[in-house]
Formats: sequence, structure tokens, C-alpha cells
Amino acid sequence: MTSGPKSEASIIIGGGISGLAAAYYLAKRNLPSILIDPASKLGGVIQTNRVADCLLEGGPDSFLSAKPEAMALIEELGLGGDVIGSNDHQRSTWIVKKNRMVPLPDGLMMMVPTRIWPTVTSPLLSWSTKIRMGLELLRRPKAGLPDRSVGEFVEDHYGPEAVEYLAEPLLSGVFGGDPYQLSVESVLPRFAEMEAKYGSLTKGTLAGLANAPKSKGGTLFRTLKNGLGSLVDALTKAIEPHCQVLSGQALSISREGDEYLVRLNDQILRTRHLVIATPAWAAAKLFEDFDPKIAKLLGSIDYSSSMTVGVIYDRAQLSQRFNSFGFLVPKTERRHLVACTFVDQKFDHRVPENRLLLRCFLGGAGNEAILDWAESDLKRAVLSDLEALLGLKAEPIAFQVSRWPKSMAQYHVGHKKLILELQERLKNYPLLFLAGNGYAGIGIPDCIRSGRDAASGFQF
Ligand SMILES: Cc1cc2nc3c(=O)[nH]c(=O)nc-3n(C[C@H](O)[C@H](O)[C@H](O)COP(=O)(O)OP(=O)(O)OC[C@H]3O[C@@H](n4cnc5c(N)ncnc54)[C@H](O)[C@@H]3O)c2cc1C
Repeated sequence: MTSGPKSEASIIIGGGISGLAAAYYLAKRNLPSILIDPASKLGGVIQTNRVADCLLEGGPDSFLSAKPEAMALIEELGLGGDVIGSNDHQRSTWIVKKNRMVPLPDGLMMMVPTRIWPTVTSPLLSWSTKIRMGLELLRRPKAGLPDRSVGEFVEDHYGPEAVEYLAEPLLSGVFGGDPYQLSVESVLPRFAEMEAKYGSLTKGTLAGLANAPKSKGGTLFRTLKNGLGSLVDALTKAIEPHCQVLSGQALSISREGDEYLVRLNDQILRTRHLVIATPAWAAAKLFEDFDPKIAKLLGSIDYSSSMTVGVIYDRAQLSQRFNSFGFLVPKTERRHLVACTFVDQKFDHRVPENRLLLRCFLGGAGNEAILDWAESDLKRAVLSDLEALLGLKAEPIAFQVSRWPKSMAQYHVGHKKLILELQERLKNYPLLFLAGNGYAGIGIPDCIRSGRDAASGFQF
């Protein structure tokens, strides 16, 4: 094992979007860095493939336009002209209820109804839930409540059916998580604030809508014409002159004087500025001997495992057309599928006219065993669900599986307190920063922000 000379370069462990963003914002200031990742391709869970003439995202497919960090980076990289929005004019989403597709009522903001008529006439919810939703308007403000699970919170406001058929499926699509474990303070902070200020979430949401600046016609989600992989490619190219990409796995970290030592299989690297941009559980391993308390805190941030399956059909063999973004399957409806996107409806430039591309989601909290299934068993299960739910009987021309073990951080009840403890403890280590989806947001813009902050000397 060789111990390298003192290095002026920052070291970044992890080459997903968080680590790449850190390398980019260092490179922008002409600062050198070394980026370490064992994967053959950078980008972490962002992986874009071309399959049977379709553009298929194996991991994330878009980012929320409301958070500015992704757009800012994309513009700087010169990719602004490639940005496309989701086709929001056909943004209906279906929920599976008793094997039938039921549209989410218009005007629903997460699980909060903002329009009376579509909610009253929707077959998705029973009359008792609808009445409860109306009475929710009478709630009085309640400040100073402790953190609770999203499940308890939504149940308290709108009743259990609103958890089963709204909060659970909607959150599964984002976090792959269990609503009775996810923290309302960390996952739905705006709703917790509304409860404190207005009592009623409906009242709070309506007030927010009334005070919101007039929409400039932007779309809810954005992506890149050639897939999010093109963001990874542009970043990889942009950092090239300043960043050495090292293929390998960091095994542990330690400290000597004002330097951090990063041990890899066959060498030890030294730096004064260390960014750890791995999932929290992988960061925990690095800290095990160095600071067991930080290792324990990091290790207690749970991660769920999920999987996407791209199923591509030849349209000539199908009679169906689906006028929706896709559907969500509540856990109580018990299917292998958790959700499914009709990619041609959600985004242009993905699917040629003669193809149907379905992007299916499986796994998530409590369903993780499915990640170990053989591809033949998966195929049987997915096709059987698609036949039962959509009537698709044809044999697909492609079936592409992307498995993402322990990839999605779960902000459980108490996450904020844990983060404060972690931040406090990290103050002992100058110029050591954590970035990634385990701390202050799991979306791509959040991860970019965490990498940018770590590069600039701010802890998440
Ligand atoms: C299936 C799926 C769909 C998603 N959809 C969306 C979406 O549509 N929109 C959105 O905004 N977000 C989405 N997300 C969330 C978002 O994509 C992720 O939170 C984000 O990309 C994580 O980036 P990251 O760099 O923090 O972590 P990762 O992408 O997990 O990258 C971490 C990197 O660290 C490396 N690493 C791990 N251990 C070590 C080690 N010891 N040494 C060196 N390297 C190491 C890994 O190889 C990996 O490359 C989705 C996530 C998944 C899994």
C-alpha cells in the first residue's frame, strides 16, 4: 500500500449527482479534486439507456422545477436548450382501486383537496372520508406539536382512507417509503407549518394558492431531451480539466494533523478538504473506526431498495392507448407493481409512435425482497399485473430491469433531530462535509445543492 504525498486537491468520495456537483463547483473555481467511485459509469442512480428505439431512464427521470439548483446547473453547462417539461395538460394520474383505474380528483395537492366538486364526485374515496375532508376546514391552529409520522398526520386530518388511497401511494412513488414511519416534519414540512398556522391543511393550501405569484406557465417536472444521463455526461466533461476520476472504493477515513486520510484497496490519499457523497449507510462504514458516534448516527438513516422495469411493446400488437401520466397502486390493493408511468404521455422525445413504453416501479419499504428475484420471475409478475390492470396481453419486445438496492433515503420520525446531532458532531472535523440524499432532501436539485454546499464549505 502506498501513501500519497500531501495533496492540495479536495477528495470527493462518491460519483453520483451529489459528488459530481461537488467536483463541478470546485472546478468552476479552478480548484483541483479527486473523485473516487467504484462504478464503471459515473452518475450513481442516474442511468439513461437506449432500448428498442426508446430512451429509458433506469433511475430518476426528471426533477422538480420548483427547486432551482438543477436548472441553474443545467444552464451553466449549456444544456438549457435541451430542457423539456412534463406534458402537464394531460397530467391525470390514476389510482388502482378494486382492480380499476380511478383518476386522482382534480385540484388535489398531495392529499389535500382544493376543489369541492371533483372531490365530492370522485369514486376514489368513500362518503365518510369526503365528509371528514369537509369538516377538516373547521380545525383550529395547533403549534408546537412533536414530529409525527405522515400516516398519523394525514389520518388525523382526513382519516385512514386518505392514507391508504392518497398519502401511501403518492409517497411510495417518491420515497418508496412507509407513511407510518416517514416524518411529517422532514417529508411534508409545509403541511406541518400549515397545521400550526391554520389548523386546516385545506385552508392553508388554499391560502397558499391565493397568495402564490401568478404561474409563468412552467411545468411541474422537467428533464433533458436526451435523458438525465446527458447531465452526467456534461458534468463529467466539465470537471475533466480539474478533476481526476479514480476508479475504486473508499474503505475508511482517518485524520493526521490537518489532513484526512482516505484508504482505498491499494493506496492512501491525503486531503485537507474531504467530501463524502455516498449514501449515508456507506458513509457510516467509512466512519466506523474514525468516529463511531457519527457512524452510528449515519447508520440509523434508513434506506429503501427499489427497482424500475422498462417494458416496451410494439404498438402494432396493441389496441390500448392510455391518456394519463400513469398509475399508482396502493399497498392495500396488493400487487407487485407499486407504480407505472406511461412514458410517451409524460414526456416528448422518449418513445417513437410505433412503441409503448411503460416504466414500472417495484420494491420500496416492506417489498424489498423482490429485488432478489430472477428476471424470469420478475417478468412473469410484472406482465401478469399489466394484463390484470391494463388488459395488455402482447409479449413485450424489451424488458429492462434496473435494481437500486439501499438507494432511497427514508426520513423517519425524528430525522431532523438526528441531523442536528450529526451537524453538531461534524463540527469537530473542519473541512469534512457530507453530501447526498440522506440528509436534507432526496431529489436531484437537493442533491446538487448538497454537493455545491460541500464544495463551498457549508455543511448540509
Ligand atoms: C429509482 C429511482 C428513481 C428516482 N426518481 C427521481 C426523480 O424522478 N426525480 C428526482 O429528483 N429524484 C429521483 N430519485 C432520487 C435521486 O435520483 C437520488 O436521490 C439522487 O440521484 C442521489 O444521488 P447521490 O449522488 O446522492 O447518490 P447515488 O446516486 O446513490 O450515488 C452515490 C455514489 O457513491 C458511490 N459509492 C458508494 N460507496 C462508495 C465508497 N465506499 N467509495 C466510493 N464511492 C462509493 C456509489 O458507487 C454511487 O455512484 C430517484 C431515485 C431512484 C433510486
